[in-house]
Amino acid sequence: MSSRTDLVEDLMGRFPHIPREAVIKEDLLRGGLAFDDSALTDNEGGDVKPKSYFIFSFDHRTLPELGTAALRRPPEEIVLTGGPYGLRRTVVSVRTNPDSPYKVQAGEDGKLQLFLDGKPIADVGVPPMPDYYRHTLANGKQVMEVAPTIQWGYLVYLTVFRVCQYFGAKEECQYCDINHNWRQHKAAGRPYTGVKPVEEVLEALAIIDKYDTAKTSHAYTLTGGSVTSKVDGLEEADFYGRYAEAIEDRFPGRWIGKVVAQALPREDVQRFKDYGIQIYHPNFEVWDKRLFELYCPGKERYVGRAEWHRRILESAEVFGPRNVIPNFVAGVEMAEPYGFRSVDEAIESTTEGLEYFMSRGITPRFTTWCPEPTTPLGRTNPQGAPLEYHIRLLEAYRATMESNGLSSPPGYGPPGAGNAVFSVSSFMDTLPAETPIEE
Ligand code: SF4
Repeated sequence: MSSRTDLVEDLMGRFPHIPREAVIKEDLLRGGLAFDDSALTDNEGGDVKPKSYFIFSFDHRTLPELGTAALRRPPEEIVLTGGPYGLRRTVVSVRTNPDSPYKVQAGEDGKLQLFLDGKPIADVGVPPMPDYYRHTLANGKQVMEVAPTIQWGYLVYLTVFRVCQYFGAKEECQYCDINHNWRQHKAAGRPYTGVKPVEEVLEALAIIDKYDTAKTSHAYTLTGGSVTSKVDGLEEADFYGRYAEAIEDRFPGRWIGKVVAQALPREDVQRFKDYGIQIYHPNFEVWDKRLFELYCPGKERYVGRAEWHRRILESAEVFGPRNVIPNFVAGVEMAEPYGFRSVDEAIESTTEGLEYFMSRGITPRFTTWCPEPTTPLGRTNPQGAPLEYHIRLLEAYRATMESNGLSSPPGYGPPGAGNAVFSVSSFMDTLPAETPIEE
């Protein structure tokens, strides 16, 4: 392949049943994009919604290496349309990489465009600053810091615990920079609350509820690092659950409540449900046994892969299989030095995992791996996984879902190219358009 454009067009030609939008989106998610200074935001004071760093950095450089983009944040997301590939509306989460062949800058008419290898390939829209970001909490904290929204405003992302108790090389997941991201924001003097007080979360949500008059926000996710001992004197289920309880008490049924947490024993999972959570994400991260043990040493030691999977199945008895949606990090299967050497092997392994869950009515979903530079896997794989892997995963995901008679999972907004808002992978862009089921 002589250029990235050749790679992209070759895959579009070989996989015509995968939307072209998904090919571009996956490439942007795995490898990031650069921003001309004129395409950056003016942070909280401007008209464009800035990148909130809602949990991980999702950047290909550390903050000190990002130059102007560290001082004037890029937008949270961009939306692509038109161009030579005739792209339908495609929402993409922003992962900054100054060395990417993709760059956002103003075209000849002054409007923002996405350039690939120096040629314009799409018109770029940026998210307007939401009204609720223009207000602060009584203590001066920003809504963007306490309750940022992503997926074009669909999801309120509540990382209420900004660090993980799996700490250090022997415990942290090898692709995760949650702890580093916390450190770098602190070092840069940015506001970054380690444990978000329940009252602050409620106050921020009240502001969103008041100013989101179009009711664009549909769901909230409660998440953060794993709790292996206690936080605020509470174990994991009660720590995360108390936020759901307070939110549902104050705003009953206003949003679909989701929690991303460890695969916990049944009684803890039941507590999540009792606190008002509707969707449970006990992420299985990577399917292959050897890779799980290597990449998730803390989870392997504290819980173990077999028990993790058993608990996922058990939680379907509490929430119903449609409402258990475990995530995996798409691409780490192919990371050097331990990952699969061929796309065939990686897809075969991950499809086995998809079949394992989908044949039981559980629909996993995935985020596209961003090889952040401070993680062990990011350091050894700065280019991420091959684009072909990501395209073939979309193909395998859709096929496995269809053969098991499943449809797009609840709580992700509308599926289909041109409709999807889920921004950190293109699985929703690739599924057939349909009426979403919001049970
Ligand atoms: S459990 Fe792993 S992926 Fe989750 S926050 Fe902790 S280190 Fe990161």
